[in-house]
Amino acid sequence: MHTRYFICLALALFGLMSCNQAQKGVTEQEALNQATGPFIGLDGDTLQKVEKTDKEWKAELSEQAYYVLRQAGTERAFTGNFWNNKKKGVYICAGCGLPLFSSATKFESGTGWPSFWEPIRKENILEVVDKAYGMTRTEVRCARCGGHQGHVFDDGPKPTGLRYCINSVALDFVEGSDKP
Ligand code: FE
Repeated sequence: MHTRYFICLALALFGLMSCNQAQKGVTEQEALNQATGPFIGLDGDTLQKVEKTDKEWKAELSEQAYYVLRQAGTERAFTGNFWNNKKKGVYICAGCGLPLFSSATKFESGTGWPSFWEPIRKENILEVVDKAYGMTRTEVRCARCGGHQGHVFDDGPKPTGLRYCINSVALDFVEGSDKP
């Protein structure tokens, strides 16, 4: 009887520890290492992780996309292509094409950045602690290419209460079905 109790307790503790690890608190490198793929693309195809040098990213992205995706910059509010986009479709990573958000979970946050209450798949994004500018925030990255997308806050609408605040320039939009 005691043994069974002990095993239950051990399992519960282990579960808690794994949960904590999967949540906020992981460093950028830990999060990137954990994301091994494979990932599911827009056509249901299997995609491998994307790893490119800084030089390669710089050559292939626009200046603004490079600044946001690879240098964790932020576009000015109300300037991007998607904060006011009300069309039905899927938002994919501008760096690697991985489906990240659906128009079905987009809402008007009034912030001037496209905002979603949930990603398409939890495993398609990485959440990393960001202590820049004297604040502790949770940074959101694309799990396939590591590209910075924005941040997630806990003041979003139901059902999740989350607000994924994303830079338009980090996304491309594929109009059509809102299900990848
Ligand atoms: Fe990506």
